[in-house]
Amino acid sequence: MNTKKTLIHDGLVVTKDFIGKYDIVVRGEKIEALGTCGSFSKETFDEKINADGLTVMPGLVEPHVHFDAPFMGGTTDHDLLTGTKACAYGGITSVISFSNQSKGASLIQNVKDWDEKNRGRAYVDWSMHSLIYDAGESTLNEIPDLVKMGVPTYKCFTTYRHSGRLMDDDSLLKVLEKTAQSDGMLMIHCEHDATCEYLTCKAIAEGHKDWIYHAKTRPATAENMAIQRVVDLMKIAEAPVYIVHASTEDSVRIIADAKADGLPIHAETCTHYMMLTDEKLSGEDGYLWICSPPLRKNHDLNQLWIAAEKGPLEVVSSDDAGLPSRMRKDLSEGRFDKVPNGMPGVEPRLTLLYTEGVLKKRIDLQRLVALTSTNPAKLFGLKDKGTLQPGSDADICLFDSKIEWIMTASTLHMNTDFCPFEGKKVTGKTKALLCRGETVLRDYELCGSPGHGKRLFRRLEH
Ligand SMILES: [Zn+2]
Repeated sequence: MNTKKTLIHDGLVVTKDFIGKYDIVVRGEKIEALGTCGSFSKETFDEKINADGLTVMPGLVEPHVHFDAPFMGGTTDHDLLTGTKACAYGGITSVISFSNQSKGASLIQNVKDWDEKNRGRAYVDWSMHSLIYDAGESTLNEIPDLVKMGVPTYKCFTTYRHSGRLMDDDSLLKVLEKTAQSDGMLMIHCEHDATCEYLTCKAIAEGHKDWIYHAKTRPATAENMAIQRVVDLMKIAEAPVYIVHASTEDSVRIIADAKADGLPIHAETCTHYMMLTDEKLSGEDGYLWICSPPLRKNHDLNQLWIAAEKGPLEVVSSDDAGLPSRMRKDLSEGRFDKVPNGMPGVEPRLTLLYTEGVLKKRIDLQRLVALTSTNPAKLFGLKDKGTLQPGSDADICLFDSKIEWIMTASTLHMNTDFCPFEGKKVTGKTKALLCRGETVLRDYELCGSPGHGKRLFRRLEH
């Protein structure tokens, strides 16, 4: 058993609930104590980490990535090995990806297969959500057991009919009902499929193939309608719901209203919706920024920052889902509707939110910690994560908030040839990272091993 005693001293400690200069005592995998600077005698420690000048926060929790995921003819850039490596550089100590079963396959078997396949392949702790493509009896009956296996969250789509992912209202009601009986939480990708399909067919028939038509044919209204529909369905079958990647000005209003009505609805947005707009799709290489929902307008972006600061947004995730650029271009055949969707983003999330959020005074440091660590840990059932209280896991990010650098595909460590924020001048970088007491990143460089990360058992608290 690891009983190593480490002192992290003189750092600016930030959690959701407090901020100040403190020393932290780590024993083995856990945080043992927290005290004012100088209150622990330094001789008794095996290792001392000087955090003077650094911001010390709970390791980040990333609840939305697609590692090793097949989509629209390609497979995403990151698998658990390369993905958790990028996580470490991004200050993330817990990541939740999706197990990608095919339609009709057993959810439970798939979770077991993913567990087996990924053993010893993670630098930081990890877990899975399931994906549910159909509400057949065998799938529904598996949900309670899935929850008991520590996989209490699963995602459905209101779109992608062509690839067999669309859940109709009848199916959503069945899944909601089962969720209510099982202590689970349903994650939903909201875009009104018929609207997107109608507009896409029309655009193609009229000869429009340009990348920008991806944004024009998946408009804000389609997302808003789908979220409103989910809210209405929740009034019939009430169960906890987590709206993934809310991206529009109106989406956050609909979610806020539903919360005010007392519905158990939660929501995230993703880093890229807070940084970029659909102007990116206008250029010749606009296909690189195609994701769904699409990048939106400036007024949406501004509203997302307000909703991230004041609610109803509780989490900012990355929805990391990059694919090789060449593959995306080839598969597109020059058409906006054939580009595999998704961008990489697991590593830059913290730096970008710090640069654009904290330094521009849109959110403060404590809210940054809440959005990227404490709230996702709590919502997704990771009770030992997301805080720096004695007794919690020693997942600790030492963030250098002074360092300035240029973000590019080559200055990041993601397994990708594309950076959606290429050339951006940013401030802040993870200098060191502890995952359950083990140093996985030191002096800005990876030093952990892929056997350290363990699969996390999750149980939701409602
Ligand atoms: Zn996603």
